[in-house]
Order: sequence, then structure tokens, then C-alpha cells
Amino acid sequence: MSELLNPDHIDFAEICVGGQFRSGAGGTAPSIDPTDGTLVADYGVAGLDDVEEAVAMGRTALADPAWRDLKPHERARVLYRIGEAIEAHAEVISALQTRDTGKTLAETLALALSAAGTFRYVAATLESLDEDLTAPRGPWVTMSVHEPIGVVAAITPWNSPIASDAQKVAPALAGGNAVILKPAEWTPLISLFLARLAYLAGLPRGLLSVLPGPGRVIGDALVRHPQVRKVAFTGGTVTGRRIAQIAGTKLMPVSLELGGKSPTIVFPDADLDEAIAGVLYGVFSSTGQSCIAGTRLFVHESIREAFVSRLVERAKALRMGRGDAPGTQMAPMIAHAHRDKVAAMVDAAVAAGARLLCGGKVPLGEFAAGAWYPPTIIDNVANTDTICREEIFGPVLAVLSWSDEDDLVAKANDNEYGLACGIWTRDYKAAWRVARRIEAGTVWINTYKQFSSSTPFGGVKNSGLGREKGRHWIQSYMNQKAIYWGMSKDPIGWG
Ligand code: NAD
Repeated sequence: MSELLNPDHIDFAEICVGGQFRSGAGGTAPSIDPTDGTLVADYGVAGLDDVEEAVAMGRTALADPAWRDLKPHERARVLYRIGEAIEAHAEVISALQTRDTGKTLAETLALALSAAGTFRYVAATLESLDEDLTAPRGPWVTMSVHEPIGVVAAITPWNSPIASDAQKVAPALAGGNAVILKPAEWTPLISLFLARLAYLAGLPRGLLSVLPGPGRVIGDALVRHPQVRKVAFTGGTVTGRRIAQIAGTKLMPVSLELGGKSPTIVFPDADLDEAIAGVLYGVFSSTGQSCIAGTRLFVHESIREAFVSRLVERAKALRMGRGDAPGTQMAPMIAHAHRDKVAAMVDAAVAAGARLLCGGKVPLGEFAAGAWYPPTIIDNVANTDTICREEIFGPVLAVLSWSDEDDLVAKANDNEYGLACGIWTRDYKAAWRVARRIEAGTVWINTYKQFSSSTPFGGVKNSGLGREKGRHWIQSYMNQKAIYWGMSKDPIGWG
């Protein structure tokens, strides 16, 4: 790619309908920088007519031999090129995403590189996907093959935009489908940019649309559309359940990556320096706006006092600042409205008897204009209190303690969510025992919030359905078909 796309020269008021960049039927809406409340750009909003057109264009593109007959290794080439285009634009994407979300440049760069890696991993998997010749149990050759599902809707949240977009768009395209991406209302810019990169990299027309707009209008219309044959969703549990109900009526496959309320467990023999750094990173990175944030700390009674006092000192020293300032650890939250919701949850917990060990107050002074909230640690709470039950999606840690392992496991599991868990110990047998008993899609032992494209990710209980990543990622966007090929020289012998 000789010349880089420059976001300053892009009209974000244009939505993407099958590769046509044009105004949407829903007009425009502002995307706001949460650092100071200023306008980043007016972005285009899709209308219901755009949904119809995007679906129709997707179906036309699917029927075109240029895509339909492309061999998997040829499709993989398109995906490799998209990955390369993202990587070449990583810094540009990072700067744009930092303006749009307030996140630190370090985080947005990591998200951009993760998206590039996702496209490359999926392309490599596609190159090496085999179909099965199954053991014949009769006079046939029997095989299992996979085919595209059709038009897929990808609905994403605001907290890791380009990475979560890539985690749906790449495997859906790899499966030979057309994709309609519905980004979150607070963060549509990067998804529109991604569409431009995909077409620049040679994606055939019609295969990717990006339709920003209200979830209850555009998202809902996509989920209900009779020609949308799969929905891949990441977002809140309430929305996920609603989508699952509609998918149930349509008998349509759906994958749901939902919320979390993850426990982090510290044993008395843990390396305390590592555990403190891990707990801080696990809950306060991304300013706590992470589905896998380790928000319930279970620290062993015997080390509780010393551990918590060091943890609080370190939390107070975290550097709050603009996302584009070097060294910032705690950038603003996504929006003032979301910050206010988090603050209200903490206030309610304190009113109910929780004790603030640090944070818990909306900062003023240089931070007054932005959506900042400080790292907040509370104790004097029970695992059954609202603050320990509900997802906060902000930088808030509740301290609990334990002494008996069975009771610990029961309490860690006593929550409607089951997304992740952290365990800090030098006792490898205890780590294994507890890891296997915890109800969660991912357990990190002596580390936290680490990811690999090759390791499946997802939740149990109210944290979701299905898995992203791993060797079977692409097949989750395909229909499996059995073929029996008769080889007997005798007729079936009936009729
Ligand atoms: P959200 O559920 O409000 O919105 C997510 C997406 O769904 C947005 O694009 C939104 O416009 C759309 N939407 C809203 N209502 C809809 C409807 N009725 N029909 C179809 N689409 C609709 O979630 P959010 O506030 O954007 O994101 C935060 C949530 O996402 C948190 O709960 C977080 O835990 C979760 N999350 C989960 C994971 C994971 O992998 N498990 C990753 C990131 C975020």
C-alpha cells in the first residue's frame, strides 16, 4: 500500500453500504471526545432502508462467482491483505480511536495490532482448514463439509472497537459470508475506517457494510431481518438475552459475548508484588471498562491487611491523564453519562455501608471537563451486595476475603456471570484445583487479561454463549453439511 488513508480527509458522515460510502437515511449524530466533551466528528446514521440495501447487496455479492467460487486459500489472501492494511495504519487508527474513546494511545495501538493479528490468524487458519472424510458405515463415501451461512450481522460494543470488530468480521468473511457490522453509538468512527481499509485491500463489493445507528432500531432490524442468518454479538447481558430470544424465534445461530463480574483470588503464598500488579492491571486498565475486569478481590484472610494497604497505595499512585499524554494509566471513561452511572453505583454502595479505601469521587480541577473517574477500592461489603453482583464497567474493586477453599469457590461462583477468574499462588496443585472448579470461560493463573487468537474465549452462565478464536472460529460462521456418495453397484432394493 503506497499511500496511507488519512482520517482527517475522511467524511465520517458517510456510512458504508456494501462498499458504497454515502450518507445514511438516519442523518448524522455527534461522536464526542470524553477527554473534554468536544466534537470529534459527526458520523452518518443508517436508516431502515439502508439495512434493506445492505442485506440485498450482501446477498448479491454472495451469489457472485467472484466470491462464491473463490477457493479458501484465495479468500485467505484477501484477509491477509486486510490485516496488512490495518497494521500499516496502526498508528493512525490508534490516534483516531484515542480521540473517539479517550483511551490511552498504548491501549488503542494494542487494539489495532490485535485486529491486524486477528485477520492474519484467521487467514492462516483458513489456508489450513481441512474437511473430514468420515468412516463409512455402508456402501458410500461419507464426508462432512462446511458452507457459508449467508448474511451475518456483527453487533459490537464501544469498549475495544477495532479489536471486537475484527473478531467478528474476519472469521465471518473467512467463512465465505457477507457481513453487516453495527458498531456502538459511542464509537462508530473506527468501524467506518475499517470498512475503507477492507475495500482498499481488495474486498469485493457488497461483502461488508458498516451501519452505525441506535441499537434498538438498526441492531434490532438486523437481528429480525429474515435474510440475516447469524448474529455475532458482543455487549451487555440484557441486550444479548433480547437478541437470543429473537434468534430463538428465527432458529438462527447466535454467538453472545456478554458481561462479567470476575473474581480474582489471592492465596497467602502468592508472589505479592506480582499479585498486586496483576490485580491493579486486571481491574483498572482500560479504566475498568472491560468485560473481564477482575472486580471482586478474594484475598486470603491471613494477608488481607498488608495486601490491601499496599494495593491501595499503588492504586492511589496510578497516573490519571489524557489518553494521548505519555505515561497515562487511567484515561477518561467512554462518556460522561457512563461515568455518572458508575459514580452513582459507588455512591449507592457507600450509602449502604461500604467503606471507600481510595477514589470514589468524581475529580474536579483539570479533570472537570472530562469523563474521568479515579481508581476506586471499597471494602466492608458482602459478596451478595449489589456492588458485588452487578457489572459496574468502571474502575471499581470490591475487597472480600476468604479462609476456607470450599467456601471461597462457592462464593466466587455465587454470581450470575461466568466470564473470567484470576488466581495468584505458588501452589500449583491449589491453582489447578481451584481453576477447574471455577465457573468461568477463562482462568488466568499468575497472570491476567492476556489473550491469544489460538485460545478460545467466551463465557458461561450470563456471560454468554459460544466461543471466539481458536481453530474452530471459522466453522462457527459456517453450516456443516454431510454428503453420502453411493458406491454400491446394487440398487437400494426398495420399490
Ligand atoms: P450494549 O449491549 O448496550 O450494546 C452493544 C451493542 O448492541 C451496541 O452496538 C448497541 O447499539 C447494540 N444494541 C443495543 N440494543 C440492541 C438491540 N435491542 N438489538 C440489537 N442491538 C442492540 O453494550 P455496551 O454498553 O455497548 O457494551 C458494554 C457491555 O459489553 C458490557 O456489559 C461488557 O461486559 C460487554 N462486553 C463483553 C465482552 C465479551 O467478550 N464478553 C467484550 C466487551 C464488552
